[in-house]
Amino acid sequence: MKFILFNAREDEKEAIASYQKQHPEIELDIYNDDITEETMSYIKEGYDGIIVVQVAEIPEAAYRLMKEEGIKVFATRSAGFDMYNLKLLKELGIRFVRVPVYSPFAISEFAFASSMYFSRDIDIIQNNVKEGDFVLKKSITSTEIRDKTVGIIGTGHIGRQTAQLFKNTGANVIGYDLYPNKEAENILTYVSSVEELVEQSDIISLHAPATEENYHLFNKALFERAKNNLILINTARGSLVDTEALLDALDNNQIRAAAIDTYEFEGPYINKKVALEDITDKVFLRLLKHNRILYSPHVAFHTNTALENLVHIAIDGVRRILLGEEVEEELILD
Ligand code: NAD
Repeated sequence: MKFILFNAREDEKEAIASYQKQHPEIELDIYNDDITEETMSYIKEGYDGIIVVQVAEIPEAAYRLMKEEGIKVFATRSAGFDMYNLKLLKELGIRFVRVPVYSPFAISEFAFASSMYFSRDIDIIQNNVKEGDFVLKKSITSTEIRDKTVGIIGTGHIGRQTAQLFKNTGANVIGYDLYPNKEAENILTYVSSVEELVEQSDIISLHAPATEENYHLFNKALFERAKNNLILINTARGSLVDTEALLDALDNNQIRAAAIDTYEFEGPYINKKVALEDITDKVFLRLLKHNRILYSPHVAFHTNTALENLVHIAIDGVRRILLGEEVEEELILD
């Protein structure tokens, strides 16, 4: 079998090499580039499968070239796939693999760590220390997480794992999900609305996907219901939070702090080096400069385990489909 892999990042190289070691029978040609009008010429006869992870749109001609050159399976090294032309892949009869679960622990740990950062006032302590202020005082007298209520919105793979981490501290963990599930019931207590969860929680961690119905779920009205010590963690999707309403809620001391790993208009910045003076998005600049926001550029997933799983599961999905096996990660295009 012969595969072509695009968009190889420096941080994925180790995982790609370890897959190659496990499967020396597979010939793998690796390119760092995105697939563009210029680079699509790398797709030549002889490849059976293609593995990508590309945010920028892939030209339609490139999809057609894949088919002409004999590619049968297309895999993405990601859970999300809204950036690909699935309609065209279906029309061309190319099968599609993605990696829906690669390490819930990675994202949960990040959500937990971010909440501890604010919960133990590390932001304030750091600012004080940088100014030579080593005095013990009320503003850095923290509370312990075991005395708090933690609300989890979205109790799927990642939400449940996050709930478990908080549960281990002795915190009271509550949850809200459109479709409550049995596994989560062993860890948390479900409440019947987002409003109820917001009114009770000292920490809220978001783990629901972006849908039309939860667009700007956290808006001005919901922030008004929040406790003023609330720490909001968003490692899910940016569109769940109205960022301007969040910034206003922080400025009006309606909530304590926020850790934002997913920002609603992050597209132009993710995985890029950008000069701050070139950023024109005023809301993003306000967010970056806010001293009670811990911003991270969509990195919650970024552990060596997650990278290895993303790379291995995507490539192996292609291999196994070609061998005629049933692959759980295949998305049947219809
Ligand atoms: P999952 O499908 O296992 O769980 C999602 C849960 O959300 C489900 O139980 C579903 O019923 C629930 N849900 C859907 N709509 C809801 C709503 N409006 N209100 C409440 N609950 C709702 O998904 P997962 O693998 O746990 O992923 C959760 C989120 O984490 C997704 O948004 C995903 O995109 C995001 N994610 C972020 C990163 C990162 O690096 N920051 C990495 C991977 C995944």
